[in-house]
Amino acid sequence: MSSTITQNLSQLVLQMSESATIKMAQMARDLAAQGHDVISLSLGEPDFDTPQHIKDAAVQALADGYTKYTPVPGLVELRKAIVTKFKRDNNLDFDINQIVVSNGAKQSIANLCLALLNKGDEVVILAPYWVSYYAIVEMAGATPVPVSGGIEKDFKVTGDQLKNAITENTKMVLFSSPCNPTGSVYTQEELEDIADVVSQHENITIVSDEIYEYINFTDKHVSIGSFENVKDQTVTVNGFAKGFAMTGWRLGYIGAPVWIAKACAKIQGQFTSGATAFGQMAGAHALTSDLAPTHKMKDAFLKRRDLVKSLLDEIPGVKTNNPQGAFYFFPDISSFYGKSDGEITINNSVEFCEYLLQNAHVAAVAGSAFGDENCFRISYAASEEQLTEAMKRIKNTLAKLK
Ligand code: PMP
Ligand code: GLU
Repeated sequence: MSSTITQNLSQLVLQMSESATIKMAQMARDLAAQGHDVISLSLGEPDFDTPQHIKDAAVQALADGYTKYTPVPGLVELRKAIVTKFKRDNNLDFDINQIVVSNGAKQSIANLCLALLNKGDEVVILAPYWVSYYAIVEMAGATPVPVSGGIEKDFKVTGDQLKNAITENTKMVLFSSPCNPTGSVYTQEELEDIADVVSQHENITIVSDEIYEYINFTDKHVSIGSFENVKDQTVTVNGFAKGFAMTGWRLGYIGAPVWIAKACAKIQGQFTSGATAFGQMAGAHALTSDLAPTHKMKDAFLKRRDLVKSLLDEIPGVKTNNPQGAFYFFPDISSFYGKSDGEITINNSVEFCEYLLQNAHVAAVAGSAFGDENCFRISYAASEEQLTEAMKRIKNTLAKLK
């Protein structure tokens, strides 16, 4: 791009970073297009297809004329289904006017940040964190304040750590459980510690991203918003992408205090007007139908978790936790920093992932994108054959680093 044209771009876009997950997935596609046999473990996307009954519901909705604009916060049919789901699965009590449906949970989070944050506000992000949290908070003009739970603590942040990070400027606490990128699941007690801290600060909103709720191997999903002391300070984010294998449908939602829900709908009314009508009807059907296909996918992810864990543990120099949810590993590979293969020396997580892509033809994402330079992220939403082959390639390639 010529410099004159670049100068015409906004400061907003010049200063924001490109999504590392999406960038890496594209690099893998490009390398594959050149004829290389690339295994992409970069994008967090279930490799399963959307269950047939959900697709059928979308086709039926189209036939029934769900082809028009919907109310900005979503069709009543879907918002009612979400209210029922929140009560059934999460012990959360919402009214329909507290639900806002968006084009993916990503938009839900963007709406929230734009609705709540001003310049000078701080957002405590429990780290490692999903890559887009950081960028969205910055786009909203606020300052991200990552607080890290290291691998020794299963990557979880304690109430005390959170307490130390809070200042008079803190406006939001943002995290995911089950967590992208670590797969860690916060227990009831750990969430209570966090809630106890936040409840001391009435101006802080907790944004609890629960999009991996149905991929939880402990079978105990706890929503922090169900605790009495923070229920009026919590926004629960969820979506269809992961649990129902509906990434391409672009459907997510929040349950929030009314004033926040109204503000998010106001913003959405100027940006997208809301999600597709027939997709929303399929979403309502997904939430109110038998969850057996979702449970089957979870069982498959658990089997893959065990497979990948055993293969990663065989690689010298690679340290792992044992993820209890989602479909990621976030291994610590810092023992390779400073090591070389011929001319190439690995100094950080980006160089590590570039080395793997070029030499093992395995695409993964650098830990720096998720707030931990010592690690890299593998998505194991791939077949057992692909995972076995990818781990073999990684092991053989890393053995060349001296
Ligand atoms: N939150 C987390 C933790 C995620 O991993 C993702 C990625 N899908 C999202 C939100 C965004 O989900 P969606 O595809 O519904 O926008
Ligand atoms: N959330 C997934 C990931 O972390 C999908 C890509 C994205 O939206 O970032 O890889």
